[in-house]
Amino acid sequence: MDEDSKSNDYGLCIICQTNTGPTEYTDLVMNPAMSSVTKMIESAVKRCGYGDSQFMALKTRLQALSAEDLILNAVRYHRTCYSQLTSKTLIDRAKARFEKGTSSGSVSDIRTKRRGRPSGTDSADDSYASKRCARDQPFDKEKCVICQDDTGAELHDVSTKNMGLQMRNIGLETSNYSLKVRLSSVTCSTDPLQAVADDMKYHLPCLVKAKRDIIIF
Ligand SMILES: [Zn+2]
Ligand SMILES: [Zn+2]
Repeated sequence: MDEDSKSNDYGLCIICQTNTGPTEYTDLVMNPAMSSVTKMIESAVKRCGYGDSQFMALKTRLQALSAEDLILNAVRYHRTCYSQLTSKTLIDRAKARFEKGTSSGSVSDIRTKRRGRPSGTDSADDSYASKRCARDQPFDKEKCVICQDDTGAELHDVSTKNMGLQMRNIGLETSNYSLKVRLSSVTCSTDPLQAVADDMKYHLPCLVKAKRDIIIF
């Protein structure tokens, strides 16, 4: 990955980072609402979690940024790019593909082609992304990943693939930003056992609550 793809050019569409794009100038959204920007970030995280590697670069660029940061930087994007990225149909499709275990991450590289980048440059993105994610804000791994508190409730280890997938789902769907960050090593990895490898611990009541709090948009 080159240097350019790590920082944002806010003068350009945040999603495709090109001036031309497939779209008319009038397609540019100059003052997006906070909720739209949040949805964009969540969609990028989700789709990467489901192995849509064409959004890895976007997710890497968005890494430590909140919707507020982006708005302060006068973020803009093509309406077309946004609706492609946040399309529930496309997210569901990526999810289904991922759950079937057939995700190659290279199903649709339209955007990559549009940018004129040679194909095959995405091959290292998965490991790159998970390395970056692993460096995300440290948290106390001896505590419940969800509440980071000593509630007195019994701590359980994430020890099964099923539980690893539940953690990934929470990481992808939760509206709790700091929990999402703590789970980013899991959501960035394509390995359903990532949470097990990370030695994550949880309280059962916290897990139940986190699952209940998930907002599906
Ligand atoms: Zn665009
Ligand atoms: Zn807890």
